[in-house]
Amino acid sequence: MTEAHAPGARGPQGTVPLAVPNIGELERRYVLEAVESGFVSSVGPFVSEFERRFADHVGSKHAIACSTGTAAIHIGLILLGVQAGDEVVCSDFTFVGSVNPIAYLGARPVLVDSETRTWNLDPDLLAGELDRRAAAGEPLPKVVEVVHVLGQPADMEPLVDACERHGIPLLEDAAESLGATWSSGRYAGRHTGTVGAIGCFSFNGNKIATTGGGGMIVTDDDALAARARHLTTQAKVPDVGYLHDEVGYNYRLTNIAAGLGLAQLERLGDFVAAKHRIAARYDEALGDLPVVLPPRVDGLDATYWLYSVLVPEADGRGRDELLDHLGALGIGARALWRPLHAQPPFAAAPVVGGAVADGLFERGVSLPCATELTESDQERVIAGVRSFFSS
Ligand SMILES: *Cc1c(COP(=O)(O)O)cnc(C)c1O
Repeated sequence: MTEAHAPGARGPQGTVPLAVPNIGELERRYVLEAVESGFVSSVGPFVSEFERRFADHVGSKHAIACSTGTAAIHIGLILLGVQAGDEVVCSDFTFVGSVNPIAYLGARPVLVDSETRTWNLDPDLLAGELDRRAAAGEPLPKVVEVVHVLGQPADMEPLVDACERHGIPLLEDAAESLGATWSSGRYAGRHTGTVGAIGCFSFNGNKIATTGGGGMIVTDDDALAARARHLTTQAKVPDVGYLHDEVGYNYRLTNIAAGLGLAQLERLGDFVAAKHRIAARYDEALGDLPVVLPPRVDGLDATYWLYSVLVPEADGRGRDELLDHLGALGIGARALWRPLHAQPPFAAAPVVGGAVADGLFERGVSLPCATELTESDQERVIAGVRSFFSS
């Protein structure tokens, strides 16, 4: 994913990029202000302003800005007490940034497959695994980490019910789902990332809002928030000397990056609207083809951060052939993630299910959906996909 925003991501003349950051005048203004203020590092007015506005936006009590989304998850797991040897449930179908922090702590991931309805962690599989372990007297995972992939909220109620039944805290990896909400049921009106004990976001260059690199931890718990702030600033105790009362991390966001983030946050509504518009147009234009469109589930309001379809394998033609076809037309489409159970560092992890994640990987193709994608470029993508199925 990260190449999607590398310099030159616009590619050779005429290519339609998969996704590029939308950086405008406001971003330039705030970044320049940060540079000129002399507050370039992790102390500065933009950091606290960005945190306050972010917390307000998603509706959480606290927000703690971090250097990356991966760092946010790392700290989030520590806050929830994960230690070496513990097990942590994680979605099998996700970007590797979700799971690496589990390994940093010497903990062990238990990978749970997705449901076809949302492409996210399957609540039935989770409940079945937790209930089975409890009945058999086996150890339970320390934390359940649920990922809202591609801007699609997970079906949260049954996930929360299963975790509460066994007293296991939930960490939401909302790295890809800033702007996504639930609109019915118990969590109606809530943003992804605000239901679990801890929510983590990313502002990497390929996400819907970017700070170049950055992340955020959100929580309603005062003590967890204070500890998050402490751990992300080298566990420094206010003191005339350099007193650090535990092993900490240099994980704070810089003031320059926060300036960028503040500008992006002010424009987030436009970005989400653009993603919705692009998704609606693709749905309409591709609905008659033999592809599976992204999930549309009542009450789970996705952003369609990365609009992705599933391509059937027929007559020896499938995902790879479509990617080649689009590539030859100068269209920056891309495959979805190889499931974690198929990644070498996690190949030995226990897997619950797995076939859905495999299918998403084998058939998934993300289509260009930069917020600045023009109508004519989108029509080019649509024509490109259609010509694959008529050739
Ligand atoms: C991007 C991403 C991360 C990691 O965020 P970084 O800011 O790149 O460290 C974690 N989880 C998911 C699902 C992501 O998409």
